[in-house]
Amino acid sequence: MTARRPRAVVVGAGIAGLATALRLHRAGWEALVIERTPSRRSGGYAVTFAGPGYDAAERMGILPELAERHITPDRMDYVRPDGRTRFSVPGPTVRAMVGDRSLNILRGDIEDVLYRAVTTRAADTVRIRFGTTIAGVRQDPDGVDVTLQDGTVERADLLVGADGLHSTTRRLVVGPEDDLRLDLNHMAGVFTLDRLPDGVEPGVTASLTDTGRTLAVVSLGADRAVAFFGYRTDRPMAELADGPQVALPRAYGDLGWVAPQVLDQLTRAESVYFDTVSQMVLDRWSRGRVVLLGDAAWCVTLFAGYGSSLAVAGADALGAALERHPADLATALREWEAEIRPEAERKQKLGRQVKGLYAPADRFGLWVRDLPLRLASFRPVSALLQRRLQLTS
Ligand SMILES: Cc1cc2nc3c(=O)[nH]c(=O)nc-3n(C[C@H](O)[C@H](O)[C@H](O)COP(=O)(O)OP(=O)(O)OC[C@H]3O[C@@H](n4cnc5c(N)ncnc54)[C@H](O)[C@@H]3O)c2cc1C
Repeated sequence: MTARRPRAVVVGAGIAGLATALRLHRAGWEALVIERTPSRRSGGYAVTFAGPGYDAAERMGILPELAERHITPDRMDYVRPDGRTRFSVPGPTVRAMVGDRSLNILRGDIEDVLYRAVTTRAADTVRIRFGTTIAGVRQDPDGVDVTLQDGTVERADLLVGADGLHSTTRRLVVGPEDDLRLDLNHMAGVFTLDRLPDGVEPGVTASLTDTGRTLAVVSLGADRAVAFFGYRTDRPMAELADGPQVALPRAYGDLGWVAPQVLDQLTRAESVYFDTVSQMVLDRWSRGRVVLLGDAAWCVTLFAGYGSSLAVAGADALGAALERHPADLATALREWEAEIRPEAERKQKLGRQVKGLYAPADRFGLWVRDLPLRLASFRPVSALLQRRLQLTS
């Protein structure tokens, strides 16, 4: 007689949820992933994928597929409101600055690589259900019952809440989001452009930072581009409630440069990412048989530039801890948290420290922020950085 495989319900098919499902498969678990959206998301914003997540992706065997999706801009242009270039950093210098064990990749492409891996390599043990969500959780000493929106009850040994910053799993198991969320008083908005604005060259990432707000256009070739908005606000939840169609034109209507063209495309954008820049502050990430992972647990924010990395590293460490303690979930979860928490807290702290640099509140702050980039744009510094890359790769 073969032993029953332990079973997990994973809420959310983002980076954290899919990486968890893939890693649990390797640890000998079965998993049901439930995702609220009716189908997979694509695109999203470009992220730097480095550090422990990069190492974990290598261990999980998905690094070659991720590396295929790597994008390096031909050039990064920093522009003025009238469109003139303040300074430019050449693509090879950008590559040298981010280092060789690091990828610049669309969030949707990380999810796509994970999804393909789950649905091919782990197809025998992982099932994904789209268009449903979690409605209730009840734990007993032997398991956890997860009630889905349609009333179905899924029995499992472990429930993983990988449902992002506004996690329902966390609300059901830990408490209201407002008690746990630390707002960093910025908003971020991203959407895919159906045409490259006039004035932005194909292959170039161009950005304009005015006091308190940044607009960037990331060209992904001749006909694909992403617009990114990041701005300060004292009332993030009110901005969120207003939504991108109201809040972004209000914040960027007078910016100049390509803002009018980009805002014009906003009105017909199919899907817009728009959210507060907030961290989650929880004293513990698990309660009995329920564990939170990824943005649902820590959300280090885009300021730290590490959330996707920590999501994959967290999933890998969870799988490893469950392998070490197959019959002792409490010990596995305790060891897992002890391993991940110091790095997550370091990155949260970094996020809080650098938040002022993202969209500096005054001209001096902007000058300080741009100094390293300006230096990198000088030919001798640029050549030095590029030589360093050749030496390390
Ligand atoms: C603009 C921006 C730039 C960033 N840059 C970087 C970077 O450079 N480097 C980096 O490492 N990280 C970066 N990050 C952070 C990184 O993108 C996130 O940390 C990471 O994507 C989090 O993944 P996640 O799976 O935990 O959460 P999410 O991506 O939020 O995924 C959650 C999933 O759960 C689903 N879901 C939500 N609620 C429910 C529910 N109730 N039921 C079922 N499903 C549900 C959602 O639809 C989604 O599919 C950036 C983030 C932003 C916003």
